Amino acid sequence: MSTRAPIPDTSLGQQAHAEGGYQLIAKPDEVTHLVCCRDASWGKAFCGAVTSEINFSVQRLCTMCVEEAEAMLPGCSTNEETLCPVDGNRCPDEHEIELRIARATDPT
Ligand SMILES: [Zn+2]
Ligand SMILES: [Zn+2]
Repeated sequence: MSTRAPIPDTSLGQQAHAEGGYQLIAKPDEVTHLVCCRDASWGKAFCGAVTSEINFSVQRLCTMCVEEAEAMLPGCSTNEETLCPVDGNRCPDEHEIELRIARATDPT
């Protein structure tokens, strides 16, 4: 008698359709593109790929993104300190990046 809609898997959070709503994913097998941590928008990666996903389970980096970053700042991908290939400054610390990810994936 009753009709039931399949319950969406919300374990990774609601899918956001808000402006700039990025989706947090955890896919170790997925190739992850690089963006500048300070970039105003994370919609476009160094290699030009357009993405709306933030993968926090990064194991495979996009080789084109790494090449682009290396071209902008040689050695940046192997530096111990993470320097931003765009402006050569140190990247914000993890806490700051986490805050920004939280904002970017917040549907409100
Ligand atoms: Zn890429
Ligand atoms: Zn940066």
